Amino acid sequence: MMWRMNVHVDADRCQGHGRCYLTAPGLFEADDLGSGRPIGDGAVPVALQHDARLAVANCPERAVSFEGT
Ligand code: SF4
Repeated sequence: MMWRMNVHVDADRCQGHGRCYLTAPGLFEADDLGSGRPIGDGAVPVALQHDARLAVANCPERAVSFEGT
């Protein structure tokens, strides 16, 4: 079985502080309003799992999550 980890952003919580895409630029990008969103489908390569956890820990709105699918 293939284990996939993905990052998610709760758009209702996001206030556009930008910490996710500054902390983990390989996983997040800004939309036109400066809110964070996952790049592509949010899949996290093994090499970026630490960055994903940092982004979760650094979002002041607790909008970022990192979980298996
Ligand atoms: S750090 Fe959190 S609040 Fe800031 S842009 Fe990213 S998801 Fe939004």
